[in-house]
Amino acid sequence: TDPAAVAALDQVAARLARVLIDAEEELTALDRRVGDGDLGINLARGARAVLDARAHLQAESDASGYLRAVSQLVRHHVGGTSGPLYSILLLGMAESLEGAASPGADAWAGAFAAGVSRLRDIGGAAPGDRTMVDALVPAADAATAGHEIRDIAAAARTGAEGTAAISANLGRSSYVGDRVIGTPDPGAIAVAALLEGLAAVGTD
Ligand code: ADP
Ligand code: MG
Ligand code: MG
Repeated sequence: TDPAAVAALDQVAARLARVLIDAEEELTALDRRVGDGDLGINLARGARAVLDARAHLQAESDASGYLRAVSQLVRHHVGGTSGPLYSILLLGMAESLEGAASPGADAWAGAFAAGVSRLRDIGGAAPGDRTMVDALVPAADAATAGHEIRDIAAAARTGAEGTAAISANLGRSSYVGDRVIGTPDPGAIAVAALLEGLAAVGTD
């Protein structure tokens, strides 16, 4: 058990939940343009479930247990395509951190990359398909290369903005065809916002 690691992770989780609640309108507006308009609602619902469960989450004995519990909350509370995908990403991180007493930067980077890999196995999207994978893969690559969280977030933002130039091969945006050009993928923008929120932890 590692109470300090759990407390630190709990602070981060609360911060990221607030990022999603603050981004609800922006993400829903983007998804209304290129999807079905529910992404902000889906993610904010999960964020509120995490905030409501904090007392229970704080009782987890380590980071792995905490992430596993959040994965279950997300699976129960987040609808759409994002729910199962974020849930599996978090489960992959939890499994990667299993038994790590006090995970350091390398362990966290490895866990993130493992979670992204699990998400890709389930979702089947590759970079260039215009999904959240376009933000997650450059971010995971930057994390694996040992870059700082600021640079990891910047890689996600660049990847997310790049989706504005491509049409979708997967997901609802593929039904919209070339009308998506000019609007970034909402799921990729959500990933960039989350990692920027993570980079801002401790700066205020
Ligand atoms: P839905 O389209 O079911 O309403 P959400 O609104 O919850 O789903 O999420 C939409 C986001 O999901 C998209 O913007 C995209 O980033 C992501 N997405 C869709 N399909 C996939 C996939 N196969 N793999 C990874 N991400 C995907
Ligand atoms: Mg949607
Ligand atoms: Mg939907």
